Amino acid sequence: MNTKRGIAAVCAAAVLFSGCGNNSNPDANSSDNSEVYMSSSSSSSIVESSTSSSSSSSSISSSSSSSSSVETSSSVESSSSSSVESSKISSSSVASSKPVSSAVESRPTEIPDILPENISEINENIVVEENDEIRIEKDSALRLNSEMELNGDLYVEGRLIIEESAKISGTGILHVANSFDDIDCKGTVTAKIDAPEPVEIDGVTYVGGVLVANKKYALPKNFGNGLSKELNTAVKAMRADSGFKMPIISGFRSYATQEKVFANWCAKDGEEVARTYSAVPGTSEHQTGLAADITSCMASYAKTAEAKWLAENCYKYGCIIRYPADKVAITGYIYEPWHIRYLGKSTAKLVHDSGLCLEEFLEIDG
Ligand SMILES: [Zn+2]
Repeated sequence: MNTKRGIAAVCAAAVLFSGCGNNSNPDANSSDNSEVYMSSSSSSSIVESSTSSSSSSSSISSSSSSSSSVETSSSVESSSSSSVESSKISSSSVASSKPVSSAVESRPTEIPDILPENISEINENIVVEENDEIRIEKDSALRLNSEMELNGDLYVEGRLIIEESAKISGTGILHVANSFDDIDCKGTVTAKIDAPEPVEIDGVTYVGGVLVANKKYALPKNFGNGLSKELNTAVKAMRADSGFKMPIISGFRSYATQEKVFANWCAKDGEEVARTYSAVPGTSEHQTGLAADITSCMASYAKTAEAKWLAENCYKYGCIIRYPADKVAITGYIYEPWHIRYLGKSTAKLVHDSGLCLEEFLEIDG
């Protein structure tokens, strides 16, 4: 979201705009105890039920902290094709009813290690049929260690842990009720993910805990206080692992700074053209502190080995290339191989694996 102009301008901008310091995403804990329901009209292929499959909500339940008993009213336990185990992991019960607002305000950047008391596990490959559903209730967790062909629905109200070798594919939908941070994805998800509705808090829009700043969703004037610590750390790690220098030539930009930048480009190219490469004040992702321009804002950067490495690997560090070449019509911005956006490792992986740009992934307008 920056210039497509010459290096001189960019370098000057770098000096002006590079900020560093405060993080806008303080860590927070989320977790608790749990209840996982694998329910539905028929939990057939997941679980072979000895009883009538319509009784539904086969449950691994322990809503209260002490009992992690497995109620096997129906199907879960009898399954031979998938083992669903409930294990007890000590975790002090953090407040279990966390409102969405606090979840997004104090959004954890990486999933905390505290796990709900009651975790269910799926260790063998399973198929969730079209009319089936799995529901991970609030305060519960499901750990997937295998492949799931999801043709029905998977509702994530608690936590879903997708281990490295695990995969969720199929024609079904993974529904995120509250926050993308409820998913700890080290594996692969190619099934469609249904994002929660946008939530506005103090004039800032979040979708599933992901802060949004684009042409449609602007930030308040006073928002932002420096480059995110997590983003800075991610860039350092990428430098160390890749061997590329990857200087941040533009990091945090305040509303006031963006005002000047945009006014300059408008004076030069006219507002209509300026809007395709520079953000109207309040709509720049740089104001979030979660975005940075790396090395060069020239189109030729895309051809460099560094840019290729960045495009292929930045998700492993929690970032995405925010304005991809094939999504210009959706993001409203030209291809910016230098502009990365920090989302946290799990969410960045989900976005990366989806092949979608952030607007598509969050189901919002650009
Ligand atoms: Zn940028």
